[in-house]
Amino acid sequence: MTTTLINPVTAEAFTEVPSATEAETDAAIERAHEAFLGWRALAPGERARLLRAFAAVVDAHNEELAQLEVTNAGHTIGNARWEAGNVRDCLNYYSAAPERLFGRQIPVPGGVDLTFHEPLGVVGVIVPWNFPMPIAGWGFAPALAAGNAVVLKPAEITPLTAIRIGELALEAGLPAGVLTVIPGKGSVVGQRFVTHPLVRKVCFTGSTEVGRQIMAGCADQVKKVTLELGGKSANIVFADTDVAAAAASAPYAVFDNAGQDCCARSRILVERTAYDEFVGRLETAVQALRVKDPAAEDSEMGPMVSAGQRASVQRYLDGATVAFSGSAPEGPGWWLPPMVVESHDTAEPIWREEVFGPVVAVMPFDDEEHAVALANDSDYGLSGSIFTADLGRGLRVARGVEAGNLSVNSHSSVRYWTPFGGYKQSGLGRELGPDAPFAFTEEKNVFIAH
Ligand code: NAP
Ligand code: MG
Repeated sequence: MTTTLINPVTAEAFTEVPSATEAETDAAIERAHEAFLGWRALAPGERARLLRAFAAVVDAHNEELAQLEVTNAGHTIGNARWEAGNVRDCLNYYSAAPERLFGRQIPVPGGVDLTFHEPLGVVGVIVPWNFPMPIAGWGFAPALAAGNAVVLKPAEITPLTAIRIGELALEAGLPAGVLTVIPGKGSVVGQRFVTHPLVRKVCFTGSTEVGRQIMAGCADQVKKVTLELGGKSANIVFADTDVAAAAASAPYAVFDNAGQDCCARSRILVERTAYDEFVGRLETAVQALRVKDPAAEDSEMGPMVSAGQRASVQRYLDGATVAFSGSAPEGPGWWLPPMVVESHDTAEPIWREEVFGPVVAVMPFDDEEHAVALANDSDYGLSGSIFTADLGRGLRVARGVEAGNLSVNSHSSVRYWTPFGGYKQSGLGRELGPDAPFAFTEEKNVFIAH
């Protein structure tokens, strides 16, 4: 079985990739388990050295990986280089962890008490198509650092960079089976991660719908699970901010990666007294966005990843009124222009649901309390931004919004130094930050009697 990959710019098939069967997946998991036994036994400093070597090899192939992502997923070349660099940075950051997986010595009567952080075994990482490289790295880098073996399933339509990164791991000297990339279908490979008893944790990023099924499936074996799911994040703009600057930055916070971003600030809430000025300036900024061939150095937005994703976005636009939109190239490819909708009713699907495309909904609010209530009126809670000149208010609102990742006076993207994850139906557990390796360990307590 193979999957045909289609270039989102040309709409033409350009290569075929094998799709693993269930039997092949089982065999890979068993080899990963064998490799785990050796990887766990390596001296911490040796594991650290290999992760740094892996980072260096990824770095040496940055341009090749970036070009693959432009062709396979339609990412702009600037973004794609950053994404490959992010894999390198995550590996370097977590290469410090093997030598620092400290346990504790806890005062107890009658003896000495020690804790150890022991690896889980084989960890299954399931990656969506929207950020194939970074999301893979956020899973495998801390998991490997903690002494686990990783089996990684890329999205069926965007497997190329993951497959290449798997080869680069071997080139860097990681033992075979420590990181295995298994391209294939979610319903086959991904599902087997959930049901195979040698996979001890599933790290899933994707839709809330599939995440719910994964969590239910993992319950059967009381398997550990991390879920990074959808979002409908709010960008809250107060009238006291520099409205021109807020309007100029807003398009990048939602239209980056053509809106196919779980952290997209796809709802803009603007204080009523600044609403007209903001929307006017937003229109100028959206029209200036460079939507063009993602291989061009100055491209700011490329096409949708697939015909299916474009159709899914278009369904949200049936019956909605687009207030204004930017440009998009003519011709083949899964293009959509960036679009702005003025929402008047929080029940509208375009206000509530994750469109996962270049569509943003804007709505006015009356005061701080109203802004927080509107932001929180969502099943999701992943990210958000607050623009205000009043730092006290910025902090109050950041504390009030039920989401895992807030930024004040910026639209910070995911940073590997800090924890990342969602409230409510945006997810379960946290990735990244200094504690991520611990999420791939069991804490063992040992008491030694005097
Ligand atoms: P998806 O359909 O949920 O797929 C995600 C991954 O899960 C893919 O690799 C998919 O394989 C696999 N999968 C599908 N069904 C499965 C099953 N029954 N068992 C195991 N694995 C299965 O999501 P998507 O359409 O690729 O990505 C878009 C969604 O991801 C959006 O909702 C977005 O918000 C979310 N997302 C969240 C984050 C975050 O960090 N919170 C980041 C990125 C994306 P196939 O490719 O074969 O379908
Ligand atoms: Mg899907």
